[in-house]
Formats: sequence, structure tokens, C-alpha cells
Amino acid sequence: MKRLAGRYHRVWDRIARCFCDAVYPLKCLNCDLLFKRPPVTRTPDRSGQIVHDPKAPYTETMPAQLSSWICPRCLNAIQPIVSPKCSCCGLPFAGRQGEDHLCGNCHETPPVYGRACASGVYAGALRAAIHVYKYHGNFCLSKPLGRLLFWTYTHQYTHRHIDCIVPVPLHRKRLRTRGFNQSDLLVAEWPGLFSGVGDGLAEIPIYNDLIVRHRHTMPQQGLNRKERQRNIRDAFRIHAARRIEKKHVLLVDDVYTTGATLNECARVLFGNGALDVDVITLARVAAP
Ligand SMILES: [Zn+2]
Ligand SMILES: [Zn+2]
Repeated sequence: MKRLAGRYHRVWDRIARCFCDAVYPLKCLNCDLLFKRPPVTRTPDRSGQIVHDPKAPYTETMPAQLSSWICPRCLNAIQPIVSPKCSCCGLPFAGRQGEDHLCGNCHETPPVYGRACASGVYAGALRAAIHVYKYHGNFCLSKPLGRLLFWTYTHQYTHRHIDCIVPVPLHRKRLRTRGFNQSDLLVAEWPGLFSGVGDGLAEIPIYNDLIVRHRHTMPQQGLNRKERQRNIRDAFRIHAARRIEKKHVLLVDDVYTTGATLNECARVLFGNGALDVDVITLARVAAP
């Protein structure tokens, strides 16, 4: 009976998808090309979502999450951040040979945080997806992008002890204009995803009220490294600091450009008793 119901559900799901494809063809948010919905290769769960496998390789994770938004050609062009890269800030090096090592910037001025990781290079379709999500208020993208970020977390940080997750905050003025904090929404689904990781990992708390952006700053876009550092200096303070005393904090943001904002957050966290601070972002500028 259960099997029959499952088959019945799948048939209706296929009919519904064919109908949707005919009425609403998919349009690539990067190149505007109309494309056909890719076939479902994994079993949808009861809500119709593809079950997230945090251990799947990047080549499966990226299409599984973004194939309804980005055409196959643009998806293939997204560059994951792979070695060799900077062992501190995660900057990917142009040459494809050799070991991870410190980049020139980290060598000259070591960041305050310990280590930064990103899912992919901030270019092409990944940049377009983040842009549509952040500036056009397309909340639906928070789920696939958040899962992609979670995949990066499971591959980069599960072997490190993380006590809490802290999204980079927006100033209340910008929050009012934009209507949502893009970093906060990216991790909104994470508590439910932790159970899929296994390996005895307990659920890690997310503190989205821990860092307060008390000073309104001008946008960082268009500023160079030094100007960004000056612009963001003393813009944050910590609320209820006892939560991070002697704790390992994972800071979350959507894009890593020069790292000035994340570095300033890390400085304030350390100043309030954090033991370690690492960084994770969805994308990273390849050559700031
Ligand atoms: Zn495309
Ligand atoms: Zn570096």
C-alpha cells in the first residue's frame, strides 16, 4: 500500500513538473537563457525538496541545489575554491600546482581570525545568484545557497571544534531598507541540517543577536583594502558576551572581498573573550 502511494505520488509529481515547465519555463539568472528543468536524480522528501546529502561531492552538490536557477552551462562554469589556496584567508592561487601556503597579504598583515573558507569564486553564476538573492530580495535562493554553504561547512569544519555560529549583522537602517539579513537567512536552515551530518556532532547554536552593528557605515563596494578597514573600524559591539567566552566561533557572511568586515568582527569577538574565530562565506573574490 505504502509503495503504491509512493508511486502514485511520483507520477503526480512528474505531471506537475511537466505542467510547470510548459507554463513557467526556467530562465537562467546568469545568462537569461530559457532551459529545461533537469531530471530529478535523487528522491525528493515529503515536502518535494531534494534530500540534502552533506557528504556528496561538490560536483553533485552544486547542481542539486542550483539547477532550477542556473542553466547547466553556467553551473559548469562556477569555480569551487580548491587547493592550492592561501592557508589563512582561502585566496585561490592562479597556478594549479603546489601546496596551500600564506598569500602575500596574510604574510604581511596576518588577519585576526584563524582561517577563512568559501564555497566558490565570486564570479559568473555564483555572483549572479548572490546578487539576485541579496539585492532583488529573492528569498527562495536562501535555501539552496544556505545548503551549498552548509556543504562547505561539512567539508571544511567538522573536524574542527566549533561552539557557535554567528552571522555578520547589518545596521538596523540597512536591515530596514533590505528587509532581511542575507547572512542570517543563509544559516536559518542549518539546525535541521546538523542531524544529517552525524559523527556525533551536537547541534551548534546560532547567535544572530550576538554582534551588533551600532555604527552605520557607507557601503564597502568601491573602497580599497585600507579604506574598507577604516570604514568598518569600531562599527561592532557584542551583546551578552558571556556566550562566547573561551568559545570557538564560526563567523558567517555571504561574500569575502578583502576580509575587512570579517576581520573587524573577529577583533571584537576576541576582545570579548572568544578563544578562536574562523570564517565561512558563500563566495570569495579571487583577486581583491
Ligand atoms: Zn546560464
Ligand atoms: Zn591569505
